[in-house]
Amino acid sequence: LFFSSSASSSKRLEGKVAVITGAVSGIGEATAKEFVRNGAKVIIADIQDDLGCAVAGELGPDAASYTHCDVTVEKDVAAAVDLAVARHGRLDVVYSNAGIAGAAPPATLATLDLDDYDHVMAVNARSMVACLKHAARVMAPRRAGCILCTASTTALIGDLAAPAYSMSKAAVVGMVRTVARQLARDGVRVNAISPHAIPTPMAIRSISETFPAATAEEVRRILTKDMHELEGASLEVEDIARAAVFLASDEAKFVTGHNLVVDGGFTVG
Ligand code: NAD
Repeated sequence: LFFSSSASSSKRLEGKVAVITGAVSGIGEATAKEFVRNGAKVIIADIQDDLGCAVAGELGPDAASYTHCDVTVEKDVAAAVDLAVARHGRLDVVYSNAGIAGAAPPATLATLDLDDYDHVMAVNARSMVACLKHAARVMAPRRAGCILCTASTTALIGDLAAPAYSMSKAAVVGMVRTVARQLARDGVRVNAISPHAIPTPMAIRSISETFPAATAEEVRRILTKDMHELEGASLEVEDIARAAVFLASDEAKFVTGHNLVVDGGFTVG
């Protein structure tokens, strides 16, 4: 269902209110736009304030507001969630999406810098615990809501070149399962989405730092080298946005504790 185009389907998120972190770029930005196209109102939560105001401005003041939210700061996360309720009187979806790649050049286990590990875990995993906690604070008493977290195919297969990143994403899949069990009793659904490589600013920056001599075209090729399963089709941020729309919609009302892998078949071998 989630592969059908938004243009041909009815508005699937009409009346819903969503907070999306990391929503001024890449997957989060595409999702904010797809949510609004599907009738939702969104709070765009990020640390890039100029870009955030521009994205919110493009979507219009009725549909979108930007708020500064560093996801490593719990009170920022709490405030973003509370802003949705204050502004729109409800909160249906929290999409915990912000993330970073971590240090380059690539670390092996032997060269892994544990300070970088702590930083990556703080931005990619601890932040998602804060989102789960504060989304649940609002949603559980109302016995409704949907929480999404961006994990990664690296959570499933591991990435030798980025151990801290892969471990942080495996933590995301684990926390989604744990919290989904607990919140099912409260009528709140919790799911992960695991994209494979997409040339967003985060991914391009990471490959460029690892291969400083590579041209833009070479960086793109390195990033997408594994995407052989669906010949001719390349994974795009909009593919993840449409998966998020499906999971956030009432069509997915019995889907919880799931990790929706969007990878063109890469991890099935
Ligand atoms: P991106 O660089 O386009 O977007 C990341 C966003 O997160 C940016 O808007 C950035 O400002 C924001 N951000 C970073 N640190 C933050 C913080 N402390 N607080 C708030 N916002 C912060 O990259 P993207 O690829 O769209 O990344 C989105 C998510 O997708 C990340 O969790 C990433 O790990 C995941 N992911 C990406 C890929 C890929 O290949 N692009 C694959 C799998 C998973």
